[in-house]
Amino acid sequence: MRVLVTGGAGYIGSHTCIRLLEAGHEVTVLDNFQNSRPEVLDRVQTITDATLEVLHADVRAPESFTQFMGEWKPEAVVHFAGLKSVNESVEKPAEYYSTNVQGTVNVARAFVEMGGGAFVFSSTAAVYGAEATMPVTENSPTRPVNPYGWSKLMAEQVLKDIHTAHPQLSVALLRYFNPVGAHPSGLIGEDPAGVPANLMPYMARVADGTYPSLKVFGSDYPTADGSGVRDFLHVDDLAESHIVALKSLAGDPGLVTWNVGRGEGVSVFEMVAAFQRVTGRRIPYSVEPRRPGDVAESYADPTEIERATSWRAGRSVDDMVADLWRWQKRSSAD
Ligand code: NAD
Repeated sequence: MRVLVTGGAGYIGSHTCIRLLEAGHEVTVLDNFQNSRPEVLDRVQTITDATLEVLHADVRAPESFTQFMGEWKPEAVVHFAGLKSVNESVEKPAEYYSTNVQGTVNVARAFVEMGGGAFVFSSTAAVYGAEATMPVTENSPTRPVNPYGWSKLMAEQVLKDIHTAHPQLSVALLRYFNPVGAHPSGLIGEDPAGVPANLMPYMARVADGTYPSLKVFGSDYPTADGSGVRDFLHVDDLAESHIVALKSLAGDPGLVTWNVGRGEGVSVFEMVAAFQRVTGRRIPYSVEPRRPGDVAESYADPTEIERATSWRAGRSVDDMVADLWRWQKRSSAD
């Protein structure tokens, strides 16, 4: 298939491009590189020994990509382009709604106008909010607690409504839990600009000496060891789920909503222990107050995607840490 990958130079997008190229698809990446670098796509091509096309465009500006879509006629769109920081979304809500909601309207509308096809959307566990009982199923209440979560829930609604009006647009809404790790080659991985806001990239920079210690936000949650619990999954598993979703929509068009996680809660302290065990590095840490907006625990019931496609995330916590560490060592040596 010809697959347009918006945000394909980003963390999850670049790993997914590898899977798409390995599966023999033709890929064009649409990105404005505001949170990524074009060199990542050179590395994707090195890893796969395949070529992809790049369209430097902005999802907020339909005139930057509509003509291209009309000419290239993608058969599928995987829509990663978006903003993803919960804290930043509280400070800059308009930017989040503009990119995540209007950007999705623009891409979906252009795709429908040229005939439609399969559309896979990057949604998030943040659509569920704080009160969901664990594990979270796709039918759990959606009550986002920040503009980021709202922007993704609104974009889901946009896609549902466009699908109803134009059933030629098939949609998979993938609600990601916590992707971590890197490609096993060590050539690509998560590369946040500035100080990482997420646990794993921060911990990797403590392990390599960039930062002196890790801040653990909250050790008094009502969890087994008091630290927050999340559903971490390997980014390569998450990448694979997009190929699985595209295949499913090709054989059985419609609209699906799937959690993508491992279905296993892992605490921050357990992750610190795993990181130390796998890398042999000591991770000094300090316990800080809880961060506003953080929930005590969040993990998926991932059985729906498995029931529909027989796929499940197979990589372990040790795989996540080992691959992240290989990438961190390599990127800090660059
Ligand atoms: P990322 O920031 O690494 O990748 C996003 C890509 O989109 C970047 O390459 C960026 O340059 C591009 N982009 C941003 N705004 C754009 C615009 N206006 N026009 C064109 N390109 C634009 O993020 P990621 O971690 O790879 O996440 C990808 C998607 O998955 C996002 O939509 C995010 O909300 C969602 N998601 C991520 C996580 C996570 O933990 N990483 C969890 C749940 C959902």
